[in-house]
Amino acid sequence: PLILTEFLDRAVQLYGDKPAVIDDHHTLTYGELNERVNQLSRGLRSLGVEKGDKVAYLAPNSTEMLEGFYGAFQVGAVMTPLNTRLKPEDYRFILEHSESKVLFVDYTLLPLVEEVVDEVKNINHVIVHGDASSNGYEAWLRKFSPHAFARESLEETDIASLLYTSGTTGNPKGVLLSHRSNYLHALSSMHHLKVSDQDTLLHVLPMFHVNGWGSPFYYTANGATQVMLRKTDPSFILEKVEKHQVSVLHMAPTVLNMVIESYEAKKPSIEQDVRVVIAGSAPPPAFVRKVEEGLNWKFIQVYGMTEISPLITTSELRSMDRERPVEEQYKLKAKAGYSMIGSQVKVVDDLGDEVPHDGKAVGEIVTRSNNVMEGYFKNEEATNEAIREGWLHTGDMAIVDEGGNIEIVDRKKDVIISGGENISSIEVEAVLYEHPSVLEAAVVAIPHEKWGEVPHAVVVLREEESLMEEEVIRFCREKLAHFKAPKSVSFIEELPKTASGKIQKVVLRKEFWKEHNRMVN
Ligand code: ATP
Ligand code: MG
Repeated sequence: PLILTEFLDRAVQLYGDKPAVIDDHHTLTYGELNERVNQLSRGLRSLGVEKGDKVAYLAPNSTEMLEGFYGAFQVGAVMTPLNTRLKPEDYRFILEHSESKVLFVDYTLLPLVEEVVDEVKNINHVIVHGDASSNGYEAWLRKFSPHAFARESLEETDIASLLYTSGTTGNPKGVLLSHRSNYLHALSSMHHLKVSDQDTLLHVLPMFHVNGWGSPFYYTANGATQVMLRKTDPSFILEKVEKHQVSVLHMAPTVLNMVIESYEAKKPSIEQDVRVVIAGSAPPPAFVRKVEEGLNWKFIQVYGMTEISPLITTSELRSMDRERPVEEQYKLKAKAGYSMIGSQVKVVDDLGDEVPHDGKAVGEIVTRSNNVMEGYFKNEEATNEAIREGWLHTGDMAIVDEGGNIEIVDRKKDVIISGGENISSIEVEAVLYEHPSVLEAAVVAIPHEKWGEVPHAVVVLREEESLMEEEVIRFCREKLAHFKAPKSVSFIEELPKTASGKIQKVVLRKEFWKEHNRMVN
């Protein structure tokens, strides 16, 4: 059967003495990591954790998190990582909803859950990382033998993970993924991203989240070194890249944007040789150029969602694409790309028919593959709405060009419907990002008496820059059809974001729709 522990076994056998993981407190070889994993599995057994039980983790990217995956899998437990940026009420909801039995928590994050864990009856044990007391994780781990652990026998359809979605559009939903889904997703990703034993990955994306989630499996399987970043501070990123000679990173364009800014300032003194950066959001072509020419990092866009393990497309170019002029290549890389091996991906209209591949017709992305989740935990209604006749409906709108390259137009919920015309918020944002004074921008629908909805821009300016509302509108009108240009602009210091760096348009919309009945979600 396809069970995720096989990936660690392979690394231990082939790369036992090679550095597996580096964080602020540990540097471990694959052999040493494996010993700690065995200790952890014994520890979990001693706490009464059995096959199918949920084990919750509230931790930054760390050795503890990586060993937690494999330690839990050995006893057949389900890994349930928690977003590190939620409110105590959210933790109460997820800890109860997930029915987690044990919670591992980093000491820096303990205050977030300290009060709620006592009230969550299903949590029997809380173990604190980084706490030197005898109840602390390190002392606790030392009580158990590091020798090979007699594993729980598993079927590949057994659940490996319960992951809660980002909550970009509302409440997070619990996604059940099997060993098989995660395993096949890892095979496909390692192929497309060309992961090898020469890679050093810097875990920038939080490992509790979709994209950060899949990567520990395929980097482990190939004996790559994984460097942990506790905080997504752009200056730390460059420091770690240089110090550990990082070759690959996965991160949100919003964070990458800040890395480019800080690289500009430090460029001459930094020695780096990154081979590729992978981002799961649609940036404008001008941004791809900044990454490839400014940082000299190859840029790959991927598309996915928690419900599909997560990745199903990659903008890694075909050899014939690489013969095109470089400007065209940047345009292609700014799209979500081609379907990955193992995933069938279609863009369909309301009747379920595939839209023509003409670069114009808009439809919803649907997908069918082993990557697709088993369902939302304890939410049959949402599951039946998402998976229909075997196809997962992503809620993301896209167009497809003649070559089969998919471009995300918008989330269904973020499309602005103005006077019967659909406006892609992403298209308008791409224009705003071209303005030299603009650091970040988001475009949302706001109510309008005549048109129903109109686009409104929320802009964060670069330091020491100033800009008037009219200037922003004029700039957009020069580059866009009139009806697509924002009708109004607000300037703010910082955009609301999820822990993985996604802009929460639902928060931006809320204030404008207070008086109306339209669901902002
Ligand atoms: P929630 O479902 O709780 O509202 P979420 O959809 O943001 O949150 P995730 O599963 O983390 O939760 O994110 C998946 C979504 O991210 C996709 O449905 C899509 O809207 C967006 N996304 C992912 N990759 C890309 C991409 N390459 N380009 C544009 N959008 C992307
Ligand atoms: Mg979603």
